[in-house]
Amino acid sequence: MKCPFCRSDDSRVLDTSHDKRGGTRRRRKCKSCEQRFSTYERAILDPPLIIKQDDRREEFDRDKLISGIQISCDKRPVSATTIERLVGNIEANLQEMEEIEVSSRVVGDMVIAGLKELDEVAYIRYAIVYLGLEDLSSIRNEIDILLEN
Ligand SMILES: [Zn+2]
Repeated sequence: MKCPFCRSDDSRVLDTSHDKRGGTRRRRKCKSCEQRFSTYERAILDPPLIIKQDDRREEFDRDKLISGIQISCDKRPVSATTIERLVGNIEANLQEMEEIEVSSRVVGDMVIAGLKELDEVAYIRYAIVYLGLEDLSSIRNEIDILLEN
């Protein structure tokens, strides 16, 4: 564990405690700069595998999801931090489902629901790609639904 002050790898554990959530907290002292810091360790579930439309399975790819959303948010007032947070929430939701695999559709729906709250234009852009809205009338339908709400 690297010291957050001097990046040294060498620290001494002063004490160890456990919390109710099954986490372990270690108070440490850096052997190089002598600063104190704590580390926290907790087991988390890996997100489920994603079942693609062609039935292949792939690992949940956080960066890929972020870049897909970034494209939809191009020149829109949605910050990188907001996108990070959205993807973080989606990842946490997936972990909490405790499934081994889920359809990519589930992930797409979560993104769509999130974007709908954040920015209507980004939402429509994402929906066009993701829902495969190819013709103008289905895009228009989607916009109409949005405007009614
Ligand atoms: Zn240090």
